[in-house]
Amino acid sequence: MESCAARRGATHLAFGDFPRPTAAHFARDSGSCRIRTVVFWDLANVSFCVLASGSSGNAALLGTDQARILIDAGLSMKELSRRLGRIGEELERLDAILITHEHADHVAGLPVLARNQKVRARIYLTRLTAPAIDWGEAQPCLETFQAGAQFRIGDINVTSFSVPHDAVDPVAFCFEMRGVRIGVATDLGYIPASIKYHLRRTDLLLLESNHDLDMLKVGPYPWAIKQRVMSRVGHLSNLGMSDYLIEDLDAATDRLVLGHLSEHNNHPEIVRLVATQALEERGLRTHLSIASQREASEVFRF
Ligand SMILES: [Zn+2]
Ligand SMILES: [Zn+2]
Repeated sequence: MESCAARRGATHLAFGDFPRPTAAHFARDSGSCRIRTVVFWDLANVSFCVLASGSSGNAALLGTDQARILIDAGLSMKELSRRLGRIGEELERLDAILITHEHADHVAGLPVLARNQKVRARIYLTRLTAPAIDWGEAQPCLETFQAGAQFRIGDINVTSFSVPHDAVDPVAFCFEMRGVRIGVATDLGYIPASIKYHLRRTDLLLLESNHDLDMLKVGPYPWAIKQRVMSRVGHLSNLGMSDYLIEDLDAATDRLVLGHLSEHNNHPEIVRLVATQALEERGLRTHLSIASQREASEVFRF
């Protein structure tokens, strides 16, 4: 428990920094100088931050001291750079950019990033997604993979898996490094068994909780769009999220981050209430966060 508290207390650090023991962590015990608590040394040096989440732009950063991966590039390069800067990071330090699918809220900044000489990150996306993106003048160096493939970036093992969503070849990811597992699954109409399988034993899970069904039904969208959002290749509702928490969320998941909230058809406090009730029903003490469109989340450290 001490180590968890220590992790969460370290939010003032930059993204890639990890707390190191100081004199305060050593104490005299019965007159002899002994280490009383070494709560920080068990950290795996893994950081994760949701830079933006929602239909106006998605991006998240996963880092170890050997690799930094941007997951989706749905913000403009300027805004991405600004949000990275706020956690002590910069575009030039990225090793890889992973793309889940070609919708604008996940790739809007990608062609500009691909053209920028200072950005050395390689772009990973599925073979079918690559030609679905308008690259403009850019001739990017792409690392294409088949949905379902596993690969390694630095010391991070990446597993991709298909999700039900109305894009050409949409995927979600699970990352494993140094004994830490992080799942990122947004833009999915529902959660089939295959996805439940991939999201087992995650220490942190970023999961979609897109809309409140009642708000969507009476909301401003045209009926055709409402049908698309509600369909099995649309977006996960609060109810879909709640069902997953009640029936399938792994008790080992310490951090649950809910994201891709609809601006018009949802509210963060509704999502928090629904998720809290589901977690209470399960008797789980999972730490809950709601990712925002407007600002980056805290930096989660493991
Ligand atoms: Zn999206
Ligand atoms: Zn999408």
